[in-house]
Amino acid sequence: MKIAKEISTYCPYCNKHTVHIVKSVIGPKPANPSRGMSVSNRRHNRKIKGYVGKVKAKTPVKKLAKKQKALLECKECHKSIQRVFGNRTKKKLEIKR
Ligand SMILES: [Zn+2]
Repeated sequence: MKIAKEISTYCPYCNKHTVHIVKSVIGPKPANPSRGMSVSNRRHNRKIKGYVGKVKAKTPVKKLAKKQKALLECKECHKSIQRVFGNRTKKKLEIKR
């Protein structure tokens, strides 16, 4: 998916339509790596593996694509908002140059 460098949309701070700069694509945050082998994580993995009765089940359906987010910065008040473009698409966002 391609979006233009500048788009005109609603700004909740100015309460009107203004020109916004499409700044950057925000990826998902990686989980804290230092907590990988912590006690709580190990206990959770043991439960999931199936030695205990029924616990919090694994998610049966995996979502196929991720939401493509971008930061929009208002040109008048310089505040930014997050926006999802194309809800759950496999195509990645590209900002036109
Ligand atoms: Zn604004």
